[in-house]
This record gives sequence, structure tokens and C-alpha cells, in this order.
Amino acid sequence: MKQQIEHTFKEPDSSALRDSIGRRITNKRKPIKFIITADGCWECTSHPITSSGYPSCGRNNETFSVARYLLTINDPRDNYDGQEVLHSCDNTLCINPSHIKWGTRIENEREKMERGRVLRGENITNSVLKEADVIEMRALYTTGEYSHREISELFDVTTMTAHRAITGATWAHVKEGLCLAVMN
Ligand SMILES: [Zn+2]
Repeated sequence: MKQQIEHTFKEPDSSALRDSIGRRITNKRKPIKFIITADGCWECTSHPITSSGYPSCGRNNETFSVARYLLTINDPRDNYDGQEVLHSCDNTLCINPSHIKWGTRIENEREKMERGRVLRGENITNSVLKEADVIEMRALYTTGEYSHREISELFDVTTMTAHRAITGATWAHVKEGLCLAVMN
């Protein structure tokens, strides 16, 4: 298994920071850490991942996705209405500033379609997982004893791949019934 080095994101001096409605960010901030993948993505390792797959952080009693927070401080806008965070890499764990930008929902959907985001299991040429792996990954996750990241390390795939397989973003055609059959 490849050794992955954890990096810490250099946040600007807090006196310069504003939250999404322009208030100064004052509270103590948990350092944002990440690993760099072979694709150049910076996968956040320090913050909890929401059910939609985005690492999130709390600032001024508000919860942001880490990517959104970083865009807010690096590329502030006068008006955040309708502004979404677009990932050019489709990696929801990614916080690499050169992979994220502001955009509208329509732009987001159009870019996703252009990249052909819908993936299906073993048909993908570089898929290293097999259906049996996915069933086992989901079973392990169900025990509550393993995080997505730990499971990804067990199967030697990226955290994103594990997260997507476990949540059903990919491998949706692998059904729960099979999972139960293996567990029994
Ligand atoms: Zn990325």
C-alpha cells in the first residue's frame, strides 16, 4: 500500500477572514488536512464527511463544506446567492483550489453531463473493485467499526472510490440482498 503524506492547508490570517454573509470569522479553527492523490486531488482527511459526500467544517456556528469555505476565503463574492462549488475533478472530497470554482447549479449539471459522470461498476476499464468487494465494503461499514477511509485502505482504493461504492453513488446495481447473503 502506498504511503500517503498528510498536508495541512495554510489558511490566511484570521483577521482577513469573512464568513458567507461577511462577518469576521473569529472562532478557533481546526486545521484542514489533506492527502494528494495520483490525480492531483487534495482529499480532505481532517473533517467529517456529510451524507452527500462533502467534508464539512464549522465556522462561526455555521457549517460549510470545506471546499465552499476555502472558496469563500480565497475568492470572495459580494453575493453568494445561487453560487455552488463546482469540482472540475468530480471528487467530492477534493479541496484543491485549482479543482474548485464558483458556478451556478445549471453550470454544475452541464459540466457533470459533459464529463459523463454516471459510472457503472465493473464496466469501467480502470475499476479495481469487484462486486464481491463492494458487498464486503458495505458490510464492513454497516458494522460501524470502520470509516470510509479505513475501508479504502483495506481495499487499496481511494477514499472517494470507497465512499462512492459504500453509499451507492457507484455500484448502485449491487443490491442489498446480496449483502445479507454474504453476511449470513
Ligand atoms: Zn480534485
